[in-house]
Amino acid sequence: MLVGGVDSPVRSFRSVGGTPVFFAGGRGAYLVDVDGRRYLDLVSSWGANILGNAPPGVVTAVRQTAARGLTFGAPSPLEHELAEEIRRVVPVAARLRFVSSGTEAVMSAVRAARGFTGRSKVVKFDGGYHGHSDGLLARAGSGVATASLPDSAGVPPGVVADTVVSPYNDPERLAGLFERQGPSIAAVVVEPVAGNMGVVPPEPGFLPAVSRLAHRYGALVIADEVITGFRLRRGTIHESLGLDADLVTLGKIIGGGMPVGAYGGRREVMEVVAPLGPVYQAGTLSGNPVAMAAGRAMLDRLTPSTYATLDRLGAQLRELLLRGADECGVAAFTVNRVGSMLGLFFATGPVRDRRDAERSDRDRYARFFHAALDRGVYLPPSALETTFVSAAMRTRDLTEADVAFRAGFRAARGA
Ligand SMILES: *Cc1c(COP(=O)(O)O)cnc(C)c1O
Repeated sequence: MLVGGVDSPVRSFRSVGGTPVFFAGGRGAYLVDVDGRRYLDLVSSWGANILGNAPPGVVTAVRQTAARGLTFGAPSPLEHELAEEIRRVVPVAARLRFVSSGTEAVMSAVRAARGFTGRSKVVKFDGGYHGHSDGLLARAGSGVATASLPDSAGVPPGVVADTVVSPYNDPERLAGLFERQGPSIAAVVVEPVAGNMGVVPPEPGFLPAVSRLAHRYGALVIADEVITGFRLRRGTIHESLGLDADLVTLGKIIGGGMPVGAYGGRREVMEVVAPLGPVYQAGTLSGNPVAMAAGRAMLDRLTPSTYATLDRLGAQLRELLLRGADECGVAAFTVNRVGSMLGLFFATGPVRDRRDAERSDRDRYARFFHAALDRGVYLPPSALETTFVSAAMRTRDLTEADVAFRAGFRAARGA
């Protein structure tokens, strides 16, 4: 009945083959399917479940808030409380607006940037994902960094004509682009750590060059932290990576497992948004009380020790995988890691942009995925997605999964 049996395409196992697992529940580090089988959860709802499945404090907050009303369609203190909490650790977000998804957050931030600058063009990086709004479903046309083609049917070429795509980690190409089109560029949108082409960390100097170039030409910088916000530290990560942002987008973790996104930024930029300014943006369920309560409860539980745990687990998982690949005779395997985000690539050599990521052997990943799945480890059902550890995991959960990983590497090798 549902299109392709799913409500979001990557869940369908299209890129690894087979039939998706249907889950009945989850607790902590583990998910349980409808037949009662247990899986170590390395998808973590695409990063949202940073504390694992059904964290008790978040579930309690949801229950208590729901009992007082599911939606008011009017302001409530909860949204202000969550906004204050975010502002304390996201300095660029002097003003904030909640929406219901990451897609909406980025779409709205781009609209605000266009309204503020009076310009049309938006620069994104090849392999960056910023939700499924029409204008951002674009990729570079045949190696030309200045032309973009729709990445989806149903998106007219005219809609992506104002989207310009440049390679990640390539400041020279970006400089050339600004030289040619600088005065018409409203904003550059960038994932400070790319998490949608596997994990690709920014090389030193790349992010500082992005904001330097943008600002030299009067364009704004949108840090898309829908994945990285509250994933790598309590707050956003772009500041410490040298990206001087004007706007930031959040999602995933800040909803505590409920549908939430947010965009925020410098006060004068955000004040172009209605009701204060001429840029229209609205939402029936925006700032939904139950979702806000979940977000607050989640953020309350993210402490420095949470991030220390996540970093340690991420490092342990990376070591385990590299050792497993090596001892199973898989030479072409590499793991990019930033904290609790891991990008697994069946490839030799560094992966520093989308081209490198797409050169990895995705058939091997599919075999690795299925062999691990059969032994109770749920990895992302696509080679170009991020593997996330959650703070609900223990070292033992990972070492127990080693048997599954090794079966995966043997399957990948074809033995
Ligand atoms: C997930 C994601 C989005 C889109 O968020 P949705 O809630 O799925 O709409 C936008 N940007 C980045 C970087 C993401 O990872």
